[in-house]
Amino acid sequence: MTQSTTLSAPLRLLVRLPLWQQILIGLALGVAAGMAFGADAQLLAPIGTLFLNAIKMLIVPLVFVSLVAGITSMQDSAKLGRISLKTIAIYLVTTAFAVSIGLLFGALFSPGEGMNMVASGNEQAKQAPSLVSILVGLVPANPVTAFAEGNILQIIVFAIALGVSINLIGERGAPAVRLFDALAETFYKLTDLVMRVAPIGVFALTAGVVGSHGAEVLLPLAGVIGVIYLASIAHVLLVYGGLLGLLARLNPLRFFQGIAPALAVAFSTSSSSGTLPVSIECARKNLGVSEGVAGFVLPVGATINMDGTAIYQGVLALFIAQAFGIDLSAGQYAMIILTATLASIGTAGIPGAGLIMLGLVLTAAGLPLEGVALIAGIDRILDMARTTVNVAGDLMTTTLVGRSEQELDRAIYDSSNKE
Ligand code: ASP
Repeated sequence: MTQSTTLSAPLRLLVRLPLWQQILIGLALGVAAGMAFGADAQLLAPIGTLFLNAIKMLIVPLVFVSLVAGITSMQDSAKLGRISLKTIAIYLVTTAFAVSIGLLFGALFSPGEGMNMVASGNEQAKQAPSLVSILVGLVPANPVTAFAEGNILQIIVFAIALGVSINLIGERGAPAVRLFDALAETFYKLTDLVMRVAPIGVFALTAGVVGSHGAEVLLPLAGVIGVIYLASIAHVLLVYGGLLGLLARLNPLRFFQGIAPALAVAFSTSSSSGTLPVSIECARKNLGVSEGVAGFVLPVGATINMDGTAIYQGVLALFIAQAFGIDLSAGQYAMIILTATLASIGTAGIPGAGLIMLGLVLTAAGLPLEGVALIAGIDRILDMARTTVNVAGDLMTTTLVGRSEQELDRAIYDSSNKE
Protein backbone atom coordinates (compact mmCIF):
# COMPACT_ATOMS: atom_id res chain seq x y z
CA MET A 1 0.00 0.00 0.00
CA THR A 2 1.38 3.44 -0.86
CA GLN A 3 1.54 6.12 1.77
CA SER A 4 -1.12 8.21 0.09
CA THR A 5 -3.69 5.41 0.19
CA THR A 6 -2.95 4.75 3.87
CA LEU A 7 -3.48 8.40 4.57
CA SER A 8 -6.55 8.84 2.48
CA ALA A 9 -8.46 5.80 3.81
CA PRO A 10 -9.40 7.40 7.17
CA LEU A 11 -10.09 10.69 5.40
CA ARG A 12 -12.44 9.00 2.96
CA LEU A 13 -14.19 7.36 5.88
CA LEU A 14 -14.53 10.72 7.59
CA VAL A 15 -15.99 12.41 4.52
CA ARG A 16 -18.61 9.67 4.20
CA LEU A 17 -19.96 10.30 7.70
CA PRO A 18 -23.10 12.45 8.04
CA LEU A 19 -22.28 16.15 8.35
CA TRP A 20 -23.35 16.39 11.99
CA GLN A 21 -20.86 13.69 12.96
CA GLN A 22 -18.11 15.38 10.94
CA ILE A 23 -18.82 18.65 12.75
CA LEU A 24 -18.72 17.01 16.17
CA ILE A 25 -15.41 15.35 15.26
CA GLY A 26 -14.11 18.78 14.16
CA LEU A 27 -15.17 20.15 17.54
CA ALA A 28 -13.46 17.38 19.50
CA LEU A 29 -10.29 17.68 17.43
CA GLY A 30 -10.39 21.47 17.94
CA VAL A 31 -10.48 21.06 21.73
CA ALA A 32 -7.59 18.56 21.53
CA ALA A 33 -5.53 20.80 19.22
CA GLY A 34 -6.14 23.84 21.44
CA MET A 35 -4.94 21.95 24.50
CA ALA A 36 -1.91 20.51 22.68
CA PHE A 37 -0.69 23.68 20.96
CA GLY A 38 -1.84 26.37 23.41
CA ALA A 39 -1.50 29.92 22.10
CA ASP A 40 0.07 28.59 18.86
CA ALA A 41 -3.38 27.31 17.88
CA GLN A 42 -4.10 30.97 17.02
CA LEU A 43 -2.36 30.22 13.73
CA LEU A 44 -5.61 28.55 12.71
CA ALA A 45 -7.56 31.76 13.38
CA PRO A 46 -7.79 32.92 9.73
CA ILE A 47 -9.49 29.66 8.75
CA GLY A 48 -11.98 30.13 11.57
CA THR A 49 -12.59 33.75 10.60
CA LEU A 50 -13.14 32.73 6.98
CA PHE A 51 -15.88 30.31 8.04
CA LEU A 52 -17.37 32.85 10.42
CA ASN A 53 -17.49 35.49 7.69
CA ALA A 54 -19.16 33.03 5.34
CA ILE A 55 -22.01 32.36 7.77
CA LYS A 56 -22.27 36.01 8.78
CA MET A 57 -22.60 36.87 5.09
CA LEU A 58 -25.84 34.88 5.11
CA ILE A 59 -27.52 36.26 8.23
CA VAL A 60 -29.08 39.53 7.03
CA PRO A 61 -30.33 38.43 3.59
CA LEU A 62 -31.38 34.99 4.82
CA VAL A 63 -33.36 36.26 7.80
CA PHE A 64 -35.04 38.86 5.65
CA VAL A 65 -36.08 36.73 2.70
CA SER A 66 -36.96 33.64 4.74
CA LEU A 67 -39.11 35.67 7.09
CA VAL A 68 -40.98 37.38 4.23
CA ALA A 69 -41.35 34.03 2.45
CA GLY A 70 -42.51 32.44 5.70
CA ILE A 71 -45.17 35.06 6.25
CA THR A 72 -46.45 34.99 2.70
CA SER A 73 -46.74 31.20 3.04
CA MET A 74 -49.18 31.84 5.90
CA GLN A 75 -52.02 33.76 4.31
CA ASP A 76 -54.09 33.17 7.43
CA SER A 77 -53.40 36.14 9.72
CA ALA A 78 -55.07 34.47 12.72
CA LYS A 79 -52.51 31.69 12.42
CA LEU A 80 -49.67 34.20 12.40
CA GLY A 81 -51.06 35.77 15.57
CA ARG A 82 -51.38 32.37 17.22
CA ILE A 83 -47.84 31.38 16.29
CA SER A 84 -46.51 34.68 17.67
CA LEU A 85 -48.32 34.18 20.98
CA LYS A 86 -47.17 30.59 21.37
CA THR A 87 -43.61 31.57 20.52
CA ILE A 88 -43.46 34.36 23.10
CA ALA A 89 -45.19 32.21 25.76
CA ILE A 90 -42.76 29.30 25.35
CA TYR A 91 -39.78 31.67 25.30
CA LEU A 92 -40.91 33.24 28.58
CA VAL A 93 -41.66 29.94 30.32
CA THR A 94 -38.32 28.37 29.37
CA THR A 95 -36.46 31.52 30.44
CA ALA A 96 -38.18 31.35 33.84
CA PHE A 97 -37.03 27.73 34.17
CA ALA A 98 -33.52 28.79 33.17
CA VAL A 99 -33.16 31.52 35.81
CA SER A 100 -34.53 29.16 38.46
CA ILE A 101 -32.14 26.36 37.50
CA GLY A 102 -29.25 28.86 37.53
CA LEU A 103 -30.15 30.05 41.03
CA LEU A 104 -30.73 26.50 42.25
CA PHE A 105 -27.36 25.25 41.02
CA GLY A 106 -25.61 28.38 42.31
CA ALA A 107 -27.10 27.82 45.77
CA LEU A 108 -26.60 24.05 45.74
CA PHE A 109 -22.92 24.04 44.75
CA SER A 110 -21.93 27.47 46.15
CA PRO A 111 -18.95 27.89 43.78
CA GLY A 112 -17.98 31.28 45.31
CA GLU A 113 -17.85 30.14 48.93
CA GLY A 114 -14.54 30.88 50.63
CA MET A 115 -13.15 33.25 47.98
CA ASN A 116 -13.18 36.18 50.44
CA MET A 117 -13.15 38.96 47.88
CA VAL A 118 -13.46 42.56 49.04
CA ALA A 119 -15.45 45.13 47.10
CA SER A 120 -13.93 48.58 46.58
CA GLY A 121 -17.10 50.24 45.35
CA ASN A 122 -15.25 52.14 42.59
CA GLU A 123 -16.67 50.36 39.61
CA GLN A 124 -19.24 52.12 37.45
CA ALA A 125 -22.13 50.33 35.81
CA LYS A 126 -22.55 50.53 32.07
CA GLN A 127 -25.61 52.49 31.09
CA ALA A 128 -28.44 50.16 30.07
CA PRO A 129 -30.80 51.32 27.33
CA SER A 130 -34.27 52.23 28.60
CA LEU A 131 -37.32 50.19 27.69
CA VAL A 132 -38.82 53.12 25.79
CA SER A 133 -35.72 53.58 23.66
CA ILE A 134 -35.69 49.84 22.89
CA LEU A 135 -39.34 49.97 21.79
CA VAL A 136 -38.87 53.12 19.71
CA GLY A 137 -35.80 51.56 18.11
CA LEU A 138 -37.77 48.55 16.88
CA VAL A 139 -39.05 50.35 13.80
CA PRO A 140 -36.27 51.19 11.36
CA ALA A 141 -36.44 54.78 10.12
CA ASN A 142 -34.37 53.54 7.23
CA PRO A 143 -34.47 49.83 6.37
CA VAL A 144 -31.25 50.12 4.38
CA THR A 145 -29.44 51.31 7.51
CA ALA A 146 -30.96 48.40 9.43
CA PHE A 147 -29.55 46.03 6.79
CA ALA A 148 -26.17 47.73 6.75
CA GLU A 149 -25.89 47.60 10.53
CA GLY A 150 -27.26 44.05 10.73
CA ASN A 151 -29.92 45.15 13.21
CA ILE A 152 -31.86 41.89 13.34
CA LEU A 153 -34.80 43.20 15.40
CA GLN A 154 -35.44 46.03 12.96
CA ILE A 155 -35.05 43.67 10.02
CA ILE A 156 -37.63 41.36 11.60
CA VAL A 157 -40.10 44.21 12.04
CA PHE A 158 -39.58 45.38 8.46
CA ALA A 159 -39.87 41.83 7.06
CA ILE A 160 -43.09 41.13 8.97
CA ALA A 161 -44.62 44.41 7.79
CA LEU A 162 -43.61 43.70 4.20
CA GLY A 163 -44.82 40.09 4.30
CA VAL A 164 -48.19 41.06 5.76
CA SER A 165 -48.58 43.81 3.14
CA ILE A 166 -47.86 41.38 0.31
CA ASN A 167 -50.55 39.09 1.74
CA LEU A 168 -52.98 42.00 1.93
CA ILE A 169 -52.76 42.87 -1.78
CA GLY A 170 -53.85 39.33 -2.69
CA GLU A 171 -53.40 38.22 -6.32
CA ARG A 172 -51.34 41.25 -7.28
CA GLY A 173 -48.72 40.19 -4.77
CA ALA A 174 -48.24 36.78 -6.42
CA PRO A 175 -45.01 37.69 -8.28
CA ALA A 176 -43.50 39.03 -5.05
CA VAL A 177 -44.45 35.81 -3.25
CA ARG A 178 -42.71 33.77 -5.94
CA LEU A 179 -39.66 36.05 -5.88
CA PHE A 180 -39.18 35.75 -2.12
CA ASP A 181 -39.78 32.03 -2.31
CA ALA A 182 -37.09 31.62 -4.93
CA LEU A 183 -34.68 33.86 -3.02
CA ALA A 184 -35.29 31.96 0.23
CA GLU A 185 -34.56 28.65 -1.53
CA THR A 186 -31.38 30.16 -2.98
CA PHE A 187 -30.16 31.24 0.45
CA TYR A 188 -30.98 27.84 1.91
CA LYS A 189 -28.82 26.33 -0.81
CA LEU A 190 -26.01 28.78 -0.06
CA THR A 191 -26.23 27.88 3.63
CA ASP A 192 -26.00 24.26 2.64
CA LEU A 193 -22.81 24.93 0.70
CA VAL A 194 -21.21 26.93 3.51
CA MET A 195 -22.08 24.15 5.96
CA ARG A 196 -20.01 21.66 3.98
CA VAL A 197 -16.89 23.34 5.32
CA ALA A 198 -18.30 23.65 8.84
CA PRO A 199 -16.25 20.75 10.26
CA ILE A 200 -13.03 22.59 9.35
CA GLY A 201 -14.36 25.98 10.49
CA VAL A 202 -15.57 24.61 13.82
CA PHE A 203 -12.24 22.85 14.33
CA ALA A 204 -10.22 26.04 13.74
CA LEU A 205 -12.45 28.27 15.88
CA THR A 206 -12.52 25.86 18.81
CA ALA A 207 -8.76 25.25 18.70
CA GLY A 208 -8.16 29.03 18.82
CA VAL A 209 -10.41 29.63 21.84
CA VAL A 210 -9.26 26.59 23.82
CA GLY A 211 -5.61 27.38 22.99
CA SER A 212 -5.82 30.94 24.25
CA HIS A 213 -7.41 29.91 27.57
CA GLY A 214 -4.64 28.07 29.40
CA ALA A 215 -5.09 26.16 32.65
CA GLU A 216 -3.71 29.12 34.64
CA VAL A 217 -6.69 31.26 33.56
CA LEU A 218 -9.31 28.57 33.99
CA LEU A 219 -8.26 26.71 37.13
CA PRO A 220 -8.97 29.35 39.79
CA LEU A 221 -12.52 29.63 38.52
CA ALA A 222 -12.98 25.98 37.57
CA GLY A 223 -15.77 25.64 40.16
CA VAL A 224 -18.03 28.27 38.68
CA ILE A 225 -17.29 27.09 35.12
CA GLY A 226 -18.27 23.56 36.16
CA VAL A 227 -21.51 24.71 37.81
CA ILE A 228 -22.57 26.75 34.76
CA TYR A 229 -21.87 23.84 32.41
CA LEU A 230 -23.74 21.44 34.70
CA ALA A 231 -26.74 23.74 35.04
CA SER A 232 -26.78 24.24 31.26
CA ILE A 233 -26.72 20.51 30.55
CA ALA A 234 -29.45 19.90 33.16
CA HIS A 235 -31.64 22.60 31.62
CA VAL A 236 -31.25 21.28 28.08
CA LEU A 237 -31.85 17.65 29.00
CA LEU A 238 -34.61 18.12 31.58
CA VAL A 239 -36.54 21.15 30.35
CA TYR A 240 -36.11 20.76 26.58
CA GLY A 241 -36.05 16.95 26.59
CA GLY A 242 -39.01 16.94 28.99
CA LEU A 243 -41.13 19.44 27.05
CA LEU A 244 -40.50 17.64 23.77
CA GLY A 245 -41.22 14.20 25.20
CA LEU A 246 -44.15 15.03 27.48
CA LEU A 247 -45.82 17.94 25.73
CA ALA A 248 -45.17 17.20 22.07
CA ARG A 249 -44.70 13.42 22.33
CA LEU A 250 -41.58 13.62 20.21
CA ASN A 251 -38.40 11.60 20.70
CA PRO A 252 -35.83 14.02 22.23
CA LEU A 253 -32.94 11.95 20.88
CA ARG A 254 -33.95 12.69 17.30
CA PHE A 255 -34.12 16.37 18.24
CA PHE A 256 -30.60 16.47 19.64
CA GLN A 257 -29.27 14.50 16.70
CA GLY A 258 -30.96 16.90 14.30
CA ILE A 259 -29.66 20.05 15.94
CA ALA A 260 -26.07 18.85 16.52
CA PRO A 261 -24.62 20.99 13.67
CA ALA A 262 -26.27 24.14 15.06
CA LEU A 263 -25.05 23.35 18.58
CA ALA A 264 -21.48 22.82 17.40
CA VAL A 265 -21.51 26.08 15.44
CA ALA A 266 -23.04 27.91 18.43
CA PHE A 267 -20.41 26.47 20.76
CA SER A 268 -17.51 27.45 18.54
CA THR A 269 -18.75 30.90 17.45
CA SER A 270 -20.48 32.07 20.69
CA SER A 271 -23.08 33.86 18.61
CA SER A 272 -26.73 32.86 18.27
CA SER A 273 -27.25 35.40 15.51
CA GLY A 274 -24.25 33.98 13.71
CA THR A 275 -25.67 30.47 14.08
CA LEU A 276 -29.06 31.50 12.69
CA PRO A 277 -28.53 30.26 9.12
CA VAL A 278 -27.45 26.87 10.47
CA SER A 279 -30.37 26.73 12.92
CA ILE A 280 -32.86 27.42 10.13
CA GLU A 281 -31.23 24.72 8.00
CA CYS A 282 -31.36 22.16 10.86
CA ALA A 283 -34.99 22.99 11.68
CA ARG A 284 -36.14 22.50 8.11
CA LYS A 285 -33.95 19.61 6.99
CA ASN A 286 -33.46 17.57 10.14
CA LEU A 287 -36.52 18.36 12.24
CA GLY A 288 -39.04 18.76 9.42
CA VAL A 289 -40.33 22.15 10.62
CA SER A 290 -42.01 24.19 7.87
CA GLU A 291 -40.29 27.20 6.32
CA GLY A 292 -42.96 29.54 7.71
CA VAL A 293 -42.51 28.50 11.34
CA ALA A 294 -38.71 28.12 11.21
CA GLY A 295 -38.31 31.42 9.35
CA PHE A 296 -40.34 33.26 11.98
CA VAL A 297 -39.63 31.57 15.33
CA LEU A 298 -35.85 31.23 14.95
CA PRO A 299 -34.86 34.83 14.09
CA VAL A 300 -37.08 36.10 16.91
CA GLY A 301 -35.51 33.56 19.28
CA ALA A 302 -31.95 34.41 18.26
CA THR A 303 -32.67 37.98 19.34
CA ILE A 304 -34.79 37.63 22.47
CA ASN A 305 -34.68 34.05 23.77
CA MET A 306 -31.51 33.45 25.76
CA ASP A 307 -32.00 30.67 28.28
CA GLY A 308 -28.26 29.98 28.52
CA THR A 309 -27.65 33.65 29.31
CA ALA A 310 -30.37 33.55 31.99
CA ILE A 311 -28.76 30.48 33.62
CA TYR A 312 -25.40 32.26 33.54
CA GLN A 313 -26.80 35.41 35.16
CA GLY A 314 -28.47 33.34 37.89
CA VAL A 315 -25.39 31.29 38.78
CA LEU A 316 -23.05 34.28 38.59
CA ALA A 317 -25.17 36.58 40.73
CA LEU A 318 -25.06 33.98 43.48
CA PHE A 319 -21.38 33.22 42.84
CA ILE A 320 -20.44 36.88 43.21
CA ALA A 321 -22.54 37.29 46.35
CA GLN A 322 -20.79 34.25 47.82
CA ALA A 323 -17.32 35.38 46.70
CA PHE A 324 -17.80 38.78 48.36
CA GLY A 325 -19.43 37.23 51.43
CA ILE A 326 -22.80 38.94 50.92
CA ASP A 327 -25.98 37.35 52.31
CA LEU A 328 -28.77 37.92 49.83
CA SER A 329 -32.15 39.15 51.04
CA ALA A 330 -35.45 37.97 49.55
CA GLY A 331 -35.72 41.34 47.78
CA GLN A 332 -32.31 40.86 46.19
CA TYR A 333 -33.33 37.39 44.99
CA ALA A 334 -36.47 38.83 43.44
CA MET A 335 -34.39 41.53 41.77
CA ILE A 336 -31.99 38.95 40.36
CA ILE A 337 -34.86 36.90 38.92
CA LEU A 338 -36.49 39.94 37.36
CA THR A 339 -33.36 41.55 35.94
CA ALA A 340 -31.83 38.25 34.78
CA THR A 341 -35.00 37.56 32.80
CA LEU A 342 -35.06 41.06 31.29
CA ALA A 343 -31.31 41.07 30.70
CA SER A 344 -31.48 37.76 28.86
CA ILE A 345 -34.20 39.17 26.61
CA GLY A 346 -32.19 42.32 25.96
CA THR A 347 -28.90 40.51 25.32
CA ALA A 348 -27.78 40.61 21.69
CA GLY A 349 -26.92 37.29 20.05
CA ILE A 350 -23.26 38.17 19.72
CA PRO A 351 -20.15 37.06 21.62
CA GLY A 352 -19.72 38.61 25.06
CA ALA A 353 -23.06 40.41 25.21
CA GLY A 354 -24.12 38.48 28.31
CA LEU A 355 -21.14 39.80 30.30
CA ILE A 356 -22.22 43.39 29.74
CA MET A 357 -25.74 42.49 30.86
CA LEU A 358 -24.31 40.85 33.98
CA GLY A 359 -23.24 44.33 35.10
CA LEU A 360 -26.87 45.35 34.93
CA VAL A 361 -28.08 42.44 37.05
CA LEU A 362 -25.38 43.05 39.65
CA THR A 363 -26.17 46.76 39.90
CA ALA A 364 -29.90 46.15 40.20
CA ALA A 365 -29.37 43.55 42.92
CA GLY A 366 -26.90 45.76 44.79
CA LEU A 367 -23.95 43.41 44.23
CA PRO A 368 -20.35 44.57 43.60
CA LEU A 369 -19.55 45.31 39.96
CA GLU A 370 -16.02 43.96 40.39
CA GLY A 371 -17.73 40.63 39.77
CA VAL A 372 -17.69 41.49 36.07
CA ALA A 373 -13.91 41.91 36.10
CA LEU A 374 -13.54 38.65 38.00
CA ILE A 375 -15.40 36.78 35.26
CA ALA A 376 -14.10 38.65 32.18
CA GLY A 377 -11.04 36.42 31.69
CA ILE A 378 -13.07 33.23 31.45
CA ASP A 379 -16.19 34.68 29.90
CA ARG A 380 -15.58 33.23 26.46
CA ILE A 381 -15.57 29.70 27.87
CA LEU A 382 -18.89 30.45 29.62
CA ASP A 383 -20.21 32.14 26.48
CA MET A 384 -19.71 28.91 24.54
CA ALA A 385 -22.01 27.07 26.94
CA ARG A 386 -24.67 29.75 27.14
CA THR A 387 -24.84 30.32 23.38
CA THR A 388 -25.25 26.57 22.84
CA VAL A 389 -28.19 26.55 25.28
CA ASN A 390 -29.63 29.70 23.69
CA VAL A 391 -29.65 28.07 20.26
CA ALA A 392 -31.01 24.75 21.60
CA GLY A 393 -33.87 26.70 23.25
CA ASP A 394 -34.77 28.48 20.01
CA LEU A 395 -34.84 25.18 18.15
CA MET A 396 -36.89 23.47 20.86
CA THR A 397 -39.48 26.25 20.73
CA THR A 398 -39.57 26.05 16.93
CA THR A 399 -40.22 22.32 17.18
CA LEU A 400 -43.00 22.75 19.76
CA VAL A 401 -44.70 25.51 17.75
CA GLY A 402 -44.31 23.54 14.51
CA ARG A 403 -45.78 20.45 16.11
CA SER A 404 -48.77 22.24 17.61
CA GLU A 405 -49.55 24.01 14.33
CA GLN A 406 -49.25 20.84 12.20
CA GLU A 407 -46.22 22.44 10.57
CA LEU A 408 -43.83 19.63 11.42
CA ASP A 409 -43.18 16.68 9.11
CA ARG A 410 -43.05 13.64 11.40
CA ALA A 411 -41.34 11.47 8.79
CA ILE A 412 -38.39 13.90 8.65
CA TYR A 413 -38.30 14.41 12.43
CA ASP A 414 -38.36 10.69 13.25
CA SER A 415 -35.84 9.71 10.58
CA SER A 416 -32.46 8.66 11.99
CA ASN A 417 -30.89 9.80 8.73
CA LYS A 418 -29.89 13.36 9.63
CA GLU A 419 -27.44 15.60 7.79
N1 ASP B 1 -23.19 35.07 23.05
C1 ASP B 1 -24.55 34.83 23.42
C2 ASP B 1 -25.37 34.48 22.21
O1 ASP B 1 -25.05 34.89 21.12
C3 ASP B 1 -25.17 35.98 24.15
C4 ASP B 1 -24.49 36.17 25.45
O2 ASP B 1 -23.35 36.69 25.46
O3 ASP B 1 -25.04 35.78 26.48
O4 ASP B 1 -26.37 33.82 22.31
